[in-house]
Amino acid sequence: MLDRRWFSNDGPLVREFEAAVCAHLGVRHAVALCNATVGIEIASKALGLEGEVIVPSYTFVATAHALQWQGIKPVFCDIDPSTHNMDPDKIEGLVTPQTSGIVAVHVWGRPCDTAGIEKVARKHGLKVMYDASHAFGCSSKGRMIGGFGACEVFSFHATKFINCFEGGVVTTNDDELAGKMRLMRNFGFSGFDNVVYLGVNGKMSEVCAAMGLTNLEAMDGIVAANRRNYLAYCRELRAMDGISVVRYEEAERNNFQYVVVEVDPDACGRSRDEIVEALHSENVIARKYFWPGCHRMEPYCRTQPDAWRRLGQTERIAARVIVLPTGQTVVEETVRQVCRTIHKAVAR
Ligand SMILES: *Cc1c(COP(=O)(O)O)cnc(C)c1O
Repeated sequence: MLDRRWFSNDGPLVREFEAAVCAHLGVRHAVALCNATVGIEIASKALGLEGEVIVPSYTFVATAHALQWQGIKPVFCDIDPSTHNMDPDKIEGLVTPQTSGIVAVHVWGRPCDTAGIEKVARKHGLKVMYDASHAFGCSSKGRMIGGFGACEVFSFHATKFINCFEGGVVTTNDDELAGKMRLMRNFGFSGFDNVVYLGVNGKMSEVCAAMGLTNLEAMDGIVAANRRNYLAYCRELRAMDGISVVRYEEAERNNFQYVVVEVDPDACGRSRDEIVEALHSENVIARKYFWPGCHRMEPYCRTQPDAWRRLGQTERIAARVIVLPTGQTVVEETVRQVCRTIHKAVAR
């Protein structure tokens, strides 16, 4: 890259990264971007979403912000507590004449009920896209995530499964949509002096693509380390009342990037927050994802103050979940230490 003096603007490493993503996911197009938030903005704009869009509240706030940033109202839908994903049965009641689409999230890389979501969407003429930020390398009924809906958006942020420092990609099998997104990520430029769309600067740089290519090469090792840690957590926490590890479907491809536990305070005798405090006091950076839910954050808590009334499962799960440390730098002995801290916190 340094020898070529080609650092950005559709360089050879970005093209190679896009081709590698297509090959991994079995999709026709991968449009590499500076991050997934801009990816959701560009994809939803290219799709023509407007007015109101139905999204889960149980997600990272970027899913909602990317829509609100464009003046689209995110209408929050409750989740199925057994999957943590949007409940298709709760969508229909939120559809209004202003509704243009659905942005569903494959939370923890576990696939949404895409068939259920797309059935409601067809009935009401809504467009569907997915925030697949967590789901690189994951499958749904044997089909790789990346090819569902009109398009899917992945994040390659430093904290995600595959990292480009910062980065994202939108995947689609729709030639026209892909072409539109390629123009939009580069100010709408089509050739040197010809601007054909309103666009932004959403480009991925060459150094980010190089990081992504390197991490794609290491992908199997990352999955193996994540899976080893996930199984170790399952083993160490198995006998604990009121603590359950969220399971991955063994028949699917998973990246095992998130070790998610649910605390049932009645069965456990401790609240989720007490356990997180105990972990933090031992310098274990456990997280309360996605506490308190997008609908409890600005600006939505002000603009949609009653949304919580229909988000009972979202609130219940957001108050119970702990995400535990994992990844290649976490070894099995560290998992045992983290679990000992949880045992101690509960026994105290
Ligand atoms: C990380 C994340 C994003 C944002 O991704 P960036 O690449 O950091 O912009 C969006 N949605 C979800 C569900 C995420 O986890």
